[in-house]
Amino acid sequence: MSNKALMQRDLKILWHPCTQMKDHETLPLIPIRRGKGVWLEDFDGNRYIDAISSWWVNLFGHANPRINTAVKAQLDTLEHVLLAGFSHEPAIRLAEQLVQITPPGLERCFFADNGSTAVEVALKMSFHYWRNTGHSEKTRFITLTNSYHGETLATLAVGDVALYKETYEPLLMKAITVPSPDCFTRDEGESWAEHSKKMFTRMEQALAQYADQTCAVIVEPLVQCAGNMRMYHPAYLQLLRDACNRYNVHLIADEIAVGFGRTGTLFACEQAGISPDFMCLSKGLTGGYLPLSLTLTSEQIYQAFYDDYEKLTAFLHSHSYTGNPLGCAAALATLDIFANDNVIEHNQQTARIMGKSVAHLEDHPHVGEIRQTGMVLAIEMVKDKASRTPYPWQERRGLQVYRHALERGALLRPLGNVIYFMPPYVINEEQIRQLAQIATEGIELATGDD
Ligand SMILES: *Cc1c(COP(=O)(O)O)cnc(C)c1O
Repeated sequence: MSNKALMQRDLKILWHPCTQMKDHETLPLIPIRRGKGVWLEDFDGNRYIDAISSWWVNLFGHANPRINTAVKAQLDTLEHVLLAGFSHEPAIRLAEQLVQITPPGLERCFFADNGSTAVEVALKMSFHYWRNTGHSEKTRFITLTNSYHGETLATLAVGDVALYKETYEPLLMKAITVPSPDCFTRDEGESWAEHSKKMFTRMEQALAQYADQTCAVIVEPLVQCAGNMRMYHPAYLQLLRDACNRYNVHLIADEIAVGFGRTGTLFACEQAGISPDFMCLSKGLTGGYLPLSLTLTSEQIYQAFYDDYEKLTAFLHSHSYTGNPLGCAAALATLDIFANDNVIEHNQQTARIMGKSVAHLEDHPHVGEIRQTGMVLAIEMVKDKASRTPYPWQERRGLQVYRHALERGALLRPLGNVIYFMPPYVINEEQIRQLAQIATEGIELATGDD
């Protein structure tokens, strides 16, 4: 078996996610034979550093021996059982541990099987809570521009990335969309905190106008990942928590991408010292092994559903693989690594190395900004540095960086014109330097014509 043979078989029969399949007439499709640590190896023996953690899921490397052992042991014990009327120890233990490590007040865990479904659960639960408590007039959601919460119709509706959303607009419920505190758009000389706080006035206005009809505000704390890794200051979340209390509106924190240490703390909400009413977790939850997700909420919200069956207040939502034991075993092994290995502290050092490795690009004429929050580092390529004018999207400059990186042994899949590092936490200094070198060459290549 070779890359070419597998690619030919694949392209005859598969339809890949988030892909214009015609691109593969010229773009190589890489079949992966195995993974180890930060490395992925293809069928021709080429190796690639997985700089984006296979779409932000992997935390402790591919084929991690500790997670492997846990999943194998679970496999010989119980592969799956429904979670309605039945239960299993991995789900119970995982929920107990998550309640301990998430912000205070999150005390009830509802399982699902991927990120989008966790967000759907939060949206439905929030709406249903208000209905159960006599507020059926609350039917709307407030979201930020440039936000992303998944690909199903309700999660697209509360998202705002045009590339994914626009086509389906006629099918979507109408969200109330408020300008993001994204600090890329701050004025010169303005600090992140100043800008994010200033942007909050728009949220305050929306809440003042729409709170009576609104179930919840949904945000990605600190980093809008799919929205080109745009970042904002934790002060915004403090203001938002306070306002949601004042206006009697829930706060949904979608930590699917930023949870489990990505932003430098175990959960991004910690940096603001806030507790949301709902927290959605997936991606890194299983260390990048298996599809699993959770929506955590408060005992008070749970109690609004708890009544005699005939009252019909129950939350009758389910997915076939809800709380799958193999996924729970992988998640428990992942939490074990956090508990035993000083991961957050170790990452501070890694994050510093990441930052230093690309510092030389600050003065590059086509780098509009290098920004970093913890273990997420993004480099935004622009046509004009002073005005931060973007390159026309049709030029697909990021794709040139992607192609170059593949040739040089790195999986650096950009978001538009934004090149980013969001690597497994086991990446070492030499591998970071290698990535920085490859990214630098790629950016030179992609921007070198003017
Ligand atoms: C990836 C992502 C989702 C959706 O998760 P899926 O498992 O891909 O459905 C939702 N919210 C955020 C912030 C994400 O990054």
